[in-house]
Amino acid sequence: MKTPVKEVQRRRDELRKRMRRERVGAVVLVGEASVRYWSGFTGSESVLVLTPSTATLYTDGRYVEEAEATSRETAVALWRGHPMAEAGERIKRLGVKRAWFEEDVLRVGWYERLREKTRQVRLSGCSSILAGIRAAKSRWEVQRIEAALRLAEEAFRQTRSLVRPGMTEAEVALELDHRVRVAGAESSSFPTIVAAGANASRPHAQPGRRRIKEGGMVLIDWGVRLNGYCSDLTRTLWIGRIPPLWRERYEVVLQAQKAGLAELSSRRSGAQADAAARAVIAEAGLAERFAHSLGHGVGLEVHEAPRLSRLWTNPLAEGSVVTIEPGIYLPGDGGLRIEDMACVGVDGARLLSSLDRSLASAVV
Ligand code: ZN
Ligand code: ZN
Repeated sequence: MKTPVKEVQRRRDELRKRMRRERVGAVVLVGEASVRYWSGFTGSESVLVLTPSTATLYTDGRYVEEAEATSRETAVALWRGHPMAEAGERIKRLGVKRAWFEEDVLRVGWYERLREKTRQVRLSGCSSILAGIRAAKSRWEVQRIEAALRLAEEAFRQTRSLVRPGMTEAEVALELDHRVRVAGAESSSFPTIVAAGANASRPHAQPGRRRIKEGGMVLIDWGVRLNGYCSDLTRTLWIGRIPPLWRERYEVVLQAQKAGLAELSSRRSGAQADAAARAVIAEAGLAERFAHSLGHGVGLEVHEAPRLSRLWTNPLAEGSVVTIEPGIYLPGDGGLRIEDMACVGVDGARLLSSLDRSLASAVV
């Protein structure tokens, strides 16, 4: 699906406002998600140079067709030398005094290429400015994310009904990945996590040959990428029955998630949402078992601004799409996490995911 021209224009208008305010003559964009966001172009290894009135995409022969089809309003220049050298050359020719680049993604070698051509230009990083604009999703973007979620949820429902004792983590992961792809997703948005039993205490466990046991638990964290936009959800399941202790913990995590969700609004910070969820887990005496932050932004990248963590003390941008993923991890015993996605509004947040997360739905 093409990014609508209006959508790209709105984004650029916002960035150009900032450029004018800071007297910046050019922005050099290189991140794959970034180039896509600011031009609609879906290839890789390209450089986009935005000035207050122009947009030029430096790409190679493989992507000409792609570039012309996906990024109207953008001039396409084929590079013969190094894309960054050509982008730098253009900035030099324009006589720009100040330029921005993405310090979070620009490789050192590419930066040096740019620097060589732009000795007279004051270069400075603008990653946080770009991230701030990208954090506030438009209606169109929220719809894309919801479409990715619907696909992810359906693939999960189908996979959930297949989970049996004796299956390995890798088998479950493959079933899920297969359904995601067949349903039309471009890819998973990150490697699927399926962690059985004690493995579930490691938040980023890799699915392996461990088998799912009767009465045991399995944590599944998966995401899809559809039209460039990502989803990210987690469910924890028990096979046959859920032990009383885990039943209690499940309720704690569910309550923590509700508390975090209730705190989400553009009047509040990521730190406040994180603290609200954390308080519920601390109340249950499990504070040190929740060792990661509450959530993160999701968009063209599965981890982007903002963060629901004690470090994000700024108000959340209206339109931010975030995960809310409290968890409890007990090494040697197991772990449970419930992860959903919501869109931040002025007076609260709207849950975007619709997959059942009741205790009853956790038993298969
Ligand atoms: Zn996740
Ligand atoms: Zn996540």
